[in-house]
Amino acid sequence: MTDTLIDRRDLAFQLYEVLDTESLTERERFSEHSRDTFDAVVETADRIARDKFATHNSAADKDEPKFVDGAVEMLPAVKEAFDAYAEAGFIAGRYDYDLGGMQLPESVMAACNGFFTAANPGTAGYPFLTTAAANLIRVFGNEQQQQTFLPHMLSGRFTGTMALTEPHAGSSLADIRTSATPTDDGDYLIKGAKIYISGGEQSLTENIVHMVLAKIKGAPAGVKGISLFIVPKFLVDEDGNATERNGVSLAGLIHKLGYRGTTSTALSFGDDAPCHGYLVGEPHQGLKYMFQMMNEARVGVGFGAAVIGYRGYMHSLEYAKDRLQGRKPSEKNPEAPQVPIIEHADVRRMLLAQKAYSEGGLALCLYGARLMDDQHTHSDEQKRQEAAKLLDLLTPVIKAWPSEYGPKANDLAIQVYGGAGYTREYPVEQCWRDNRLNPIHEGTNGIQALDLLGRKIWQDQSHGLQLLMQQMQLDLEAATSDRCQQWALSLSETLQQAVKVTQSLGKSLMSENPDRVLANASCYLHLFGHIIVSWMWLRQANAAEKALATVSTDDERNFYQGKIQAAQYFFHWELPTVAQDLVLLKNQDDTCLAMKAEWF
Ligand SMILES: Cc1cc2nc3c(=O)[nH]c(=O)nc-3n(C[C@H](O)[C@H](O)[C@H](O)COP(=O)(O)OP(=O)(O)OC[C@H]3O[C@@H](n4cnc5c(N)ncnc54)[C@H](O)[C@@H]3O)c2cc1C
Repeated sequence: MTDTLIDRRDLAFQLYEVLDTESLTERERFSEHSRDTFDAVVETADRIARDKFATHNSAADKDEPKFVDGAVEMLPAVKEAFDAYAEAGFIAGRYDYDLGGMQLPESVMAACNGFFTAANPGTAGYPFLTTAAANLIRVFGNEQQQQTFLPHMLSGRFTGTMALTEPHAGSSLADIRTSATPTDDGDYLIKGAKIYISGGEQSLTENIVHMVLAKIKGAPAGVKGISLFIVPKFLVDEDGNATERNGVSLAGLIHKLGYRGTTSTALSFGDDAPCHGYLVGEPHQGLKYMFQMMNEARVGVGFGAAVIGYRGYMHSLEYAKDRLQGRKPSEKNPEAPQVPIIEHADVRRMLLAQKAYSEGGLALCLYGARLMDDQHTHSDEQKRQEAAKLLDLLTPVIKAWPSEYGPKANDLAIQVYGGAGYTREYPVEQCWRDNRLNPIHEGTNGIQALDLLGRKIWQDQSHGLQLLMQQMQLDLEAATSDRCQQWALSLSETLQQAVKVTQSLGKSLMSENPDRVLANASCYLHLFGHIIVSWMWLRQANAAEKALATVSTDDERNFYQGKIQAAQYFFHWELPTVAQDLVLLKNQDDTCLAMKAEWF
């Protein structure tokens, strides 16, 4: 087992040599920061993640939370880790100084949170959900709601949840049934049932703030009738002290494949006692508010998937250097010593694929986090708008690509371990089980594909797509070495074919039944995702080539050569796989659409 959660050298390369994160310190909001303060906070995250989170990752998986006498029993180590995260200021890390925050850029916060997920995704779920719920209140809540809940959530006294899903309404939130009835006091009585609510009950903090989607009686049908409510477990006074128990209760815990340390709950609202909820913002705008926060949550899911992939890669890399087995095909002497399995080309294939998927996914998510920084803090208003459009377009890819390829990396990590990988004595099977959630939650990858091809590509007369191509063009032109130029050419040719296919799909979408075009949305997501990640690898290869020209130590030379070889892997082994997508999309293949339920 390795201690390395994310390779710090790689992270520094991605943050500073590819993304120039240091330049953010020239912006007003981050002017009190420097590369040193960014590095110090990353160092703290890495340390706490190793000391407090990684230490009980396996124990919390084996000894998952239990429902005993109406309460949840959890390992004490989970609370110690949550408290350490909160005390180090990470819940409020990106917030203003006067809210107790550190005004850190999203890029740096994302990097920090990567260590916690890599160490222990189950325990990391509690503070991450709290930040997301607090963000909703900060942006859309009124002053009183902010004063009542925000300080306690940001300090780690309360946690937060996102309560959207109902037993009959997951992907289709338009169909939720939880209701909200106005009272004479100005609040609402909430009635209904939610399922799969992460962190919906726990024994970590004195209160839980649920952000609940519900429909006010008489609201319009569908998504236009959804409102957002704050529903605390305990009603509180102005200082956040509990006054009485609210009518939200734990109906049961759900037992999962992975992410076992995070409680997964079925919650009932208003069954045994009145359940009070406070409307956030305007009535019927709830889903819109949720979706404004979705970019952050979806980038977070992609990031989590990339770093769990990364963690499995780190484990299997170490194992492959130690495990002796067999000899090279060219070795004819049966008494020659056995070689470490990393000497076998097929094991290197599996390690290279993991490196390409996890470092490529990490690069994509850090790019997304940088777009968030640009959207909110760039000095030029036009650049802010452009970043917002790019992020909007790329969000389904940032969520879905790492969550498809992170578990694939973990699958390969198991294979590198051989039989040991299939046992619970080694850590990689847990990585795979944990990561398998990511294609499912925050909108399944099927829903992301529909969002990309059915909506995002065409939004604002495809302005986001044009901006994306302009950004890619800059990196295509920056490719100066022979090999980078060759890869840039492959990327540019594939991009042209993808644009052509996109145009023909666009025409069909407008003139024909959309069912046929959207039937192959997942192929489109794969095509688009692979093009974007190839671009991420070209950016890394360009930066590595530049650095190689001046590098002086063997370690550094090896690091950059590794980047270039992984880029080559992506361009030789992965990008060509989109040829199949291009054919299916061009022909608007109807194999899946035409298959009838009765024929199965
Ligand atoms: C461990 C875990 C934690 C979770 N945490 C939370 C949480 O904290 N809060 C919360 O609110 N929810 C949470 N969820 C719920 C999660 O967001 C939903 O499971 C997810 O949105 C899918 O909904 P569903 O399970 O009802 O599946 P369904 O919506 O029933 O989907 C089943 C399958 O059908 C496909 N499908 C559905 N509709 C379409 C369509 N229109 N076109 C094409 N394909 C379609 C889907 O892609 C999927 O493959 C969690 C789930 C899990 C498993």
